[in-house]
Order: sequence, then C-alpha cells, then structure tokens
Amino acid sequence: MRIVLLGAPGSGKGTQAQRLVARFGVPQISTGDLLRSAVARGTELGRRAKAAMDSGQLVADEIVIGIIRERLGQGDAQDGYVLDGFPRNQAQARALATMLAAIGQPLDAVVLFEVDYAEIARRISGRRSCPNCGTIYNVHDASTLGITHCTSCDAGPLLTQRPDDNEQTVARRLAVYDEQTRPLIEHYRAQGLLRTIDAQGDVEEVTDRLLAVLPPA
Ligand code: AMP
Repeated sequence: MRIVLLGAPGSGKGTQAQRLVARFGVPQISTGDLLRSAVARGTELGRRAKAAMDSGQLVADEIVIGIIRERLGQGDAQDGYVLDGFPRNQAQARALATMLAAIGQPLDAVVLFEVDYAEIARRISGRRSCPNCGTIYNVHDASTLGITHCTSCDAGPLLTQRPDDNEQTVARRLAVYDEQTRPLIEHYRAQGLLRTIDAQGDVEEVTDRLLAVLPPA
C-alpha cells in the first residue's frame, strides 16, 4: 500500500496514519516528524529547516525531497508506506512521481481529509503529543479530556505541545495550505488517484471511512 494523506494542518492525517501503521504494518512517513527530529537533534538539516517551520512556511523543496528520497529507500518502506505531509506543492508532487516512476512503484491512492476551519482550530489548540513514543492526543476530546501524560508507552511522560501550534503560526500554515497544497487536489483528481473522506467527528468513525476508500491491501 503506497498512499498519500492530503489535508490541512490539524485535519487528522497524523492520527489516522498512526492507525494505518498499527493495522497494516507499513511505516508512516511524515516530513513534519522527520524535520522536527532533525531540529531536536541539532543537525545541519534541522538548522536549515527551523526558521521556516517556526514561521509556518514550507521548508525548501530540495531539503524535503532529499529527506523523502532517502526515507523511501530504507528497507521498511519497500512494501508500502503512508505519506503524511508530503507532497505539499506541485514541485514536490512532480519529484515524488519521478522517484516512484523510476522504481516502477506508483502511488495507489491519495486520500483527502475534509475538515472545516472551526474544527481545525479546535484540534490544533488541543493537540498534544508524547515526546517518547509520538502518540497524538487531543485534550478537548471526550476520551482524552484534559489528559496530561502519555498512556500509550511505559515511560508515560508529560505530553508536549508543538511550538508551531500557536495562533499566529497556524494562520500562516493554513494560508500556505490554501495557496500551495490545495492545488494538489485537482492534480491527483486528474490522475484518478483522489479519494475524499469527511474527516470530522470521532476518530474511530474517520478510520472506518478511511479504510472504506483504501485500495485492497
Ligand atoms: P506538519 O507536521 O506536517 O504540520 O509540518 C510541520 C512543518 O514542517 C510545516 O509547517 C513546514 O514548515 C514543515 N514541513 C513539513 N512537511 C513539509 C513539506 N512536505 N514541505 C515543506 N515543508 C514541510
């Protein structure tokens, strides 16, 4: 299964990608996670990416395309993957198509997550994640209301909030999505790859809708 999850920041791509990983055993490849890890480790790449991430802009194409090229070449990605947060503009989509054509492994589907802006604001303001295992929670959801510590890993550390999940940066990230990423909807629709799901509501229900549109594993 080689799929792309497409949608605005806060539309639930990361949460649903984690569920696909658990179910199908393919890796989640999130450029946001890979970049945050590079920033946290203080690598040269992280240093180059940090300013764009802090201000809600896209990191340079050459950096993210390089990250994806390297990641797709790793052993665990040979039987499929869930791309989360890549591609984010036309140049990245073209680079991905070229990479996949070269190895004869085209995408199976692109799933668009549809969520209205009020819900995006609610999800982003409540989003917390575990610094140890990466599990994503929402402190506004009934099942995890007010949660402070991770319940998914043994360490159970205090959950953290992403530095770019603040009001000003979120506004910029949404504008960038509208300008640069939204055109990919038509790009993939024209290729017959696009599947659209209503990504509002309960996490379980969204997972069911997602599974219903995926090609057979
Ligand atoms: P995300 O975790 O997907 O919301 O990404 C967080 C931030 O990482 C974004 O606001 C961008 O600054 C950067 N980023 C993630 N993926 C990409 C990408 N495909 N192209 C450029 N920048 C990216």
